[in-house]
Amino acid sequence: MPTRVVLKNLTRQHGTPLFVVDHDVLRRNYAEFKRYLPRVQAYYAVKANPAPEIVRTFYEAGASFDVASIGEFRLVYENIKDLPAKERQDYIWDKIIYANPIKDRATLEELDRYKPLVTYDNLAEIGKVRKHAPHAGLALRIRVPNTGSMVELSSKFGCAPGEAADLIAAAFDAGLVVEGLCFHVGSQCTNFDNFVQALNMSAQVLEEAAGRGCKLELLDIGGGFPAPYDGSVSRFRELARVLNAEFSRLFPKDLEILAEPGRFLVATAATLVAEVIGKADRDGKRCYYLNDGIYHTFSGVLFDHCQYHIKAFKKGSTQLCAVFGPTCDALDTICQSEPLPELNLGDLVYSEHIGAYSHASSTWFNGFPPAKVVHINR
Ligand SMILES: *Cc1c(COP(=O)(O)O)cnc(C)c1O
Repeated sequence: MPTRVVLKNLTRQHGTPLFVVDHDVLRRNYAEFKRYLPRVQAYYAVKANPAPEIVRTFYEAGASFDVASIGEFRLVYENIKDLPAKERQDYIWDKIIYANPIKDRATLEELDRYKPLVTYDNLAEIGKVRKHAPHAGLALRIRVPNTGSMVELSSKFGCAPGEAADLIAAAFDAGLVVEGLCFHVGSQCTNFDNFVQALNMSAQVLEEAAGRGCKLELLDIGGGFPAPYDGSVSRFRELARVLNAEFSRLFPKDLEILAEPGRFLVATAATLVAEVIGKADRDGKRCYYLNDGIYHTFSGVLFDHCQYHIKAFKKGSTQLCAVFGPTCDALDTICQSEPLPELNLGDLVYSEHIGAYSHASSTWFNGFPPAKVVHINR
């Protein structure tokens, strides 16, 4: 996190609420990912935070990208388009995966000319891709355990492992090429067994497909890599050790392995600074009102099941307080019992590690605009 002095100076210049993205931290997170998982190419999952500045920094660091809508595809494409023309011809698979198993027709038609790599998990999608994006390569998404992950995804996507070989054969029969498998263990996955089971299931599917004459080239292990929210030792390194051991045990050396980290790369890189705009005592509890809340940068409290802590710049003895956002909705509650010192109107507070799934899902509800974004150390 930038020092408190830096944060205060930035708010003097830009006002509040202010979302401060530190690009040194982005680069450090990417370097850590590569260092501990050297065999894996990282496709940054843009939905975690789609700021073009972030896309450029990761691109310069060597990352590729996971997009899940045509808007995200265009955003990435536009921000890496100063590549030499020749590289642009064949970089697309190396640089972008379209990782939403469900795509509408217009999206497929626009994607087709880039010969994209897209994911699928059902028969209807094969027909659609064949018709509207015949030049696409495919990756089959399989359903894997999401037990204990902060955000669960397995109810929405992924074929049953037992259907996988049939779905691979069906795509080849339709004249398409299946390049590989993919899965997602659920976001902020601290139960490493999900990864272990997913890798073992993948190895079985690859073997079964090979037995039916379909040799796949790549395995996409998705996202879910845990961000160190509580500031404790990185659990990512422990996870990486487990993954590397399974890679060498289960897969041939020439299998291309990629991943789609979102949260891990951006969560710790942003800090939100907000201002106390109201103060009341209700039923004996101190209530503070901030100029940012659940409909804005703290959207993750609702959509991402992520509880952020509010910290004061001021020192002093604390009491448990409720902290609310600025809108007229009671849902706009950031926390019910945060230890805070005595604050006055106009005092600043901040929240760390708020880079992922936060500003990205900010709305204009009630006429309050999203927080202003500043990028430092670019
Ligand atoms: C959201 C998402 C990701 C990123 O997940 P994190 O938990 O943020 O790493 C990766 N891949 C797919 C397909 C996703 O939907």
